[in-house]
Amino acid sequence: MANDNLAQESQIDLMEWGKDRGIKYFMVNFTDIKGVQRTKLVPIRAIDRVQENGAGFAAFAADFDYLPAEPDMMVMPDADQVIQIPWQRDVAWVPGNPVIRGEYTMQAPRNVLRKQMKDAAELGLYFKIGVEPEFQFLTPDGRALADSYDTLSKPCYDQQSMMRNMHVIREASAYMHEMGWGGYQNDHEDGNGQWEMNWDFDDVLKMSDQLSFFKFMIRTIAEKHGMRVTFMPKPLGPLTGNGLHIHISAWDGEGKDAKTNLFRDDSHSHGLSPLGLNFLGGIIRHGSGTTVISCPTVNSYKRVGSVATASGASWAPSKVTWSGDNRTHLMRVPGGGRMENRLPDGSVNPYLLPAINMAAGILGVRSKADPGKPLDDIDMHHEGHKITDAPKLPENLLDALRAYEADTDLVAQMSEEFTSAFCNKKRAEWLQYCAELSDWERANTLDC
Ligand code: ADP
Ligand code: MG
Ligand code: MG
Ligand code: MG
Ligand code: MG
Repeated sequence: MANDNLAQESQIDLMEWGKDRGIKYFMVNFTDIKGVQRTKLVPIRAIDRVQENGAGFAAFAADFDYLPAEPDMMVMPDADQVIQIPWQRDVAWVPGNPVIRGEYTMQAPRNVLRKQMKDAAELGLYFKIGVEPEFQFLTPDGRALADSYDTLSKPCYDQQSMMRNMHVIREASAYMHEMGWGGYQNDHEDGNGQWEMNWDFDDVLKMSDQLSFFKFMIRTIAEKHGMRVTFMPKPLGPLTGNGLHIHISAWDGEGKDAKTNLFRDDSHSHGLSPLGLNFLGGIIRHGSGTTVISCPTVNSYKRVGSVATASGASWAPSKVTWSGDNRTHLMRVPGGGRMENRLPDGSVNPYLLPAINMAAGILGVRSKADPGKPLDDIDMHHEGHKITDAPKLPENLLDALRAYEADTDLVAQMSEEFTSAFCNKKRAEWLQYCAELSDWERANTLDC
């Protein structure tokens, strides 16, 4: 993909912006293909140069599918999304778009998302999303809950635990307020030690950057208090896994230019317009193919499949189905011209999360895909086995990879270049996992 297709001109001059706010350093950030955030700390005296030419990184070292011999990957800061760090006000965080050999590389998740935005704009669609990160506070070694009092068998909304953890949650909530995110609720979730914080939906690229920043922020605050935050899908055996639901709507413009929610039509089924239904139809049609992006780790497959958890419900889908306000389906349409995808887990890449939904949805809009019947009255956790005409989700990382690679339309919409790099990386991860000898294998095989 050539530069001119993706180039973004910002009105913001980072040097001026920084001087006005007493900024001394910029963290020039990008997210790699596996979802790890990387950064270079650039003193303000050099930010002009970096805004013009990018900050240089060795792509191989940052876990992209490149060889060590490759020239520098230059990360071009997206000044429109710069954030003054609320807990370190003389430092700013700015996400960027990676460029290699003069072109925006499609290996970079943020560039893949921007491709979907460009294709959507050609259809007159501008997406707004909301995200629901679930996470757990653990001990620093990641093996146990940080809060040893948190032992209820039905721990959701536990008030006493909220009191014990309030210093962390309210610090994050206050920073959200300072950044103008519109935080509106925080709660103890369904697993012990599990939390969720919610803030207002916004333009898709901005929200992906906010989700990245949120992970950075909550980790930083928790580490200050001697805890470790994880978004890992199933870090602790039978406890409810960490999901990362996404809510999606399509508008007629970006930011203040958005006047009409094009997914909303209260005279149609579940309040979705024909356009919304086609978009949903695309996500349903490509459901299995999307799974490896929504659930990208070996550990992800301990969460999906509606396997009962200690609290009684997994809240995760097992098959590719949709409904109105029913939390046992993959897609839920709670009304108001939006749809929720409940498949993604906490290991999802913040940029690929909307990108894969937009890719599948765009295919659905182009082909006028029919989502099929909503299964409003079906409890998929208990009656899912009766629904025999809906695809069962892939049950492990390798099956999910294969389902994605077999979905050639989805691969083309995400980009071949991205897919090849992503699948190379993920296949290597799978093989590495398979090479591990586990205690389970010994217990079940030694005496065969
Ligand atoms: P639930 O737990 O019931 O799924 P939450 O309140 O935790 O719901 O999260 C709902 C998310 O949906 C929030 O991020 C909210 O801002 C977002 N949202 C609400 N309306 C829209 C919309 N029209 N488009 C996109 N996201 C939306
Ligand atoms: Mg060097
Ligand atoms: Mg929620
Ligand atoms: Mg939740
Ligand atoms: Mg939800």
